[in-house]
Amino acid sequence: MSLATQKDGSFQSRELLQEMISSIREGVIIVDRDGRVLASNPAARSLLAGGEKIESRRLEEVVADQAAHDAIGRALKNGESTETKIEIAVRHDNRVYDLRAAPLSFAEKRGQRHAIGIFYDITRLERLEKVRQEFLSNVSHELRTPLTSILTFVETLDDGGLEDEENSRRFLQVIRRNAERMHHLIDDVLELSLIEAGKVTVNPAAIQLAPLVDEAWSSLTKKAQKRGISFENQVPRATTVFADSRRLEQILINLMSNAIKFNREGGTVIVAYEESGGSQHIHVADNGDGIERLHLPRIFERFYRTDSARSRELGGTGLGLAIVKHLARLHHGAVTVISTIGTGSTFTVSLPAQPSATETQTSA
Ligand code: ADP
Repeated sequence: MSLATQKDGSFQSRELLQEMISSIREGVIIVDRDGRVLASNPAARSLLAGGEKIESRRLEEVVADQAAHDAIGRALKNGESTETKIEIAVRHDNRVYDLRAAPLSFAEKRGQRHAIGIFYDITRLERLEKVRQEFLSNVSHELRTPLTSILTFVETLDDGGLEDEENSRRFLQVIRRNAERMHHLIDDVLELSLIEAGKVTVNPAAIQLAPLVDEAWSSLTKKAQKRGISFENQVPRATTVFADSRRLEQILINLMSNAIKFNREGGTVIVAYEESGGSQHIHVADNGDGIERLHLPRIFERFYRTDSARSRELGGTGLGLAIVKHLARLHHGAVTVISTIGTGSTFTVSLPAQPSATETQTSA
């Protein structure tokens, strides 16, 4: 639609306004005093009627939510301006809108009151808010369990338990273990928050993979020894990958730590390397109990565990794999898992193959 221009080159204000209302993302409708739609913009037609014309239809026919009728009704009858949260099913998706309804005063002058309704899509905000609330409630729940345990044991010691030296030592160990759990959880929560807020950047460089794997394992040997788990680093010594070495080590430690925790007593953890389809794949395999198929699609979600009690008992936070997923993505890579019950699981981190010297020069 072309805009008419005045002789002096300025746009006619009415057409300018019309063009503006037509182009905005928010749905706008004007309803007359009989409750019929008088005018609408394309966004409102798309939202309320899949793009069909809605002019002269009754408001009840085009919006099902009663709260929307009440809001527009109050603007028409009492001249009230309101903001109301309403839900509209748009193409099988339940979307949430903030409906601002207001009387149109210019129409009032002529003795007729119309109402304007503006639909702001707040679905994304609502979903983010829900995720935030769930996260907070998960964190609070996870912190409450060890904290309750600490308080119980402190009370027992306070109530005369100190006299029994053997018991006191045992209680102190429990208190320490739970305090460590809280510490670990807070570290993981902070780490994940930083990553999700986009505050963590990776600086990929060509690094030797095999020594990095050895280093990651050496920080876990005590844990492995306790369960009699052995280790095989099958990564060829000459292998280089293009990654941020600190972050890749963090990925490896999280995966290898799980491979120890969820392995069977005396099991083995194998780290292997393979290149295919333009990607570099690092496999971390264990021969533990494996993960049931139904859990696999959700295993990388934060706080998702196949067995919460067991995870907590093993000192887990339920955040390790979520951190791995984000760190792999920051490298433009991904993490996947294959698992067989009774045989074990293999987690694979796939990174884009190292850029060639010419590509590096081009992008520099
Ligand atoms: P956690 O702190 O519980 O280890 P993660 O996010 O690292 O949290 O892992 C989430 C869940 O995935 C674990 O609680 C466990 O149920 C499952 N899981 C992770 N790695 C393995 C594995 N190697 N074998 C079996 N289950 C695993």
